[in-house]
Amino acid sequence: MDIMSMSIEQLGERIAAAGQPKYRAKQLYEWMHVRLAASYDEMTNLPKALRERLEAEWPLTVLRKVVMMESAEDGTRKYLFRLADGNVIESVLMKYHHGNSVCISSQVGCRMGCSFCASTIGGLVRNLEPSEMLGQIYAITRDTGERVDNVVVMGTGEPLDNYDNLLRFIDMLTDEAGLHISQRNITVSTCGLVPKLRQLADENLAITAAISLHAPNDELRKTLMPVANSYSVKELLEAADYYTETTGRRITFEYSLIDGVNDSAACAKELAGILRGRNCHVNLIPINPVKERKYRRSLVTNVLQFRKMLENEGINVTIRRELGSDIDAACGQLRRHYEALGGAEGGEE
Ligand code: SAH
Repeated sequence: MDIMSMSIEQLGERIAAAGQPKYRAKQLYEWMHVRLAASYDEMTNLPKALRERLEAEWPLTVLRKVVMMESAEDGTRKYLFRLADGNVIESVLMKYHHGNSVCISSQVGCRMGCSFCASTIGGLVRNLEPSEMLGQIYAITRDTGERVDNVVVMGTGEPLDNYDNLLRFIDMLTDEAGLHISQRNITVSTCGLVPKLRQLADENLAITAAISLHAPNDELRKTLMPVANSYSVKELLEAADYYTETTGRRITFEYSLIDGVNDSAACAKELAGILRGRNCHVNLIPINPVKERKYRRSLVTNVLQFRKMLENEGINVTIRRELGSDIDAACGQLRRHYEALGGAEGGEE
């Protein structure tokens, strides 16, 4: 395990085994997870000999910024980071009135195969380590000099397909020895791995679960999301209910609107029918067209009509505010473009 994925207890054991006093572990942890040091050189209250030894034996997991694009309209920033093994991942910073939100990736690529999504085109390369999920937040905090208030695990990857690392990441992010972000300010989005969603409910965390539904019935959902062949909408909704009952947290359903595919009045009606009476919130996302895919974004009039029909049925619904439309590109496309160019050497920071 890399040093930045270790809990403070594990770090303490390693430090003791290396013959160092225990308080060094606390200092080191604070440098890595509170002061967000990008190198051992910055850790000036550690003896130089120790820093050199750490550098040789336990290199820090620091993400290198390869590209950053900032929206002139609203300050949204898209980042492409390089990992130690050369893989690249995307993260997004969004500025809302209630604070800074960062959308992070949980895997390099994805194996879920959703037909409208750019992140899954090259398949799954590997899981991200806890340190690499944290590292996206740390690098953005260093880059902006501003605190991150909210974290959404909604970038590339299926977080529940990287379950253990996800939980450790949440644990470290919310720990008072680290950035101490409240569980309530974390959202994890899943395509609907039912057994893992139930397992997550049993952890009884105060995080929000968002479920990518995208269709009101199995038949249509199967045409968009291969995961629908494994779990039915009914099983998914039961797991969502279980999550709400166990944690007391309201579920968010994401519904990406695709022109002529899932945006009809009949779909809205059917969706309202299956969600009625549930303590939930629906987030409508006009789809970002992906050039490798045939889908088009729903017409604005259809989006508004879809919302209205849900509202009329008493369903809590919002349309995702469009951010950074001047740097618009579906998630995963920045990485794909970069890899298609063969991945330039170097990088900033
Ligand atoms: N694997 C997780 C999290 C990553 S995807 C999940 O499926 O929820 C985050 C959200 O973006 C999901 O709701 C996903 O279905 C949606 N999404 C993917 N590609 C999209 C696109 N081209 N346009 C709009 N939403 C998209």
